[in-house]
Amino acid sequence: MASKGKALVGVLSLQGDFREHIEKLESLGAQTLDVRRASDLAGIDALILPGGESTAVAIIESSHAAHGIFDEIRSMGESGLPIWGTCMGSILLAKNIEGSKQGRIGLMDITVRRNAFGPQRFSAETPLQIPALGALPFPGVFIRAPILTAVGEGVEVLGRVEQGTVMAREKNLLATVFHPEVVDDARVHEYFLSMIQF
Ligand code: GLN
Repeated sequence: MASKGKALVGVLSLQGDFREHIEKLESLGAQTLDVRRASDLAGIDALILPGGESTAVAIIESSHAAHGIFDEIRSMGESGLPIWGTCMGSILLAKNIEGSKQGRIGLMDITVRRNAFGPQRFSAETPLQIPALGALPFPGVFIRAPILTAVGEGVEVLGRVEQGTVMAREKNLLATVFHPEVVDDARVHEYFLSMIQF
């Protein structure tokens, strides 16, 4: 556990753009930890699951060093640990992945459709209206992004585009299908840090 006022935020660092999250968190004064095996999870105040390739991470997770990390994250999430999944991370968090049996953490009552915008970027930057972040639109970067096609009753939709939900929260769980770690706007990271209770 970090000292009061300075959160220790773990970032799952098996594959993907974990480095960008770590830089953003450090610029906001948070302490960070690269999480590569289940034992790294002890003592963190929150966890980010970055963008990357969900099938690759599911395969790495079943390998020796990272083995059991999904089970441990699931049980910590059930106990209230704030967890935020960006893009691939939202796929790992989802209970339902359309047409797929791939490995997942499966904590959040959402249904995702992978690669919902086609194989490439949906657009360089799409301004997103997210009232929870204030009136100024948030620059949405979509990279082979999924979309949330359905959310359960206990899930609050925080942002939508024509194709579906792009940001949602269920108690201690947050999902964004876009990449706040690659833009010059820290409001989603700040929102997530505010979910940590000391
Ligand atoms: N398309 C990737 C997947 O299905 C997610 C892409 C991303 O995280 N940028 O896992």
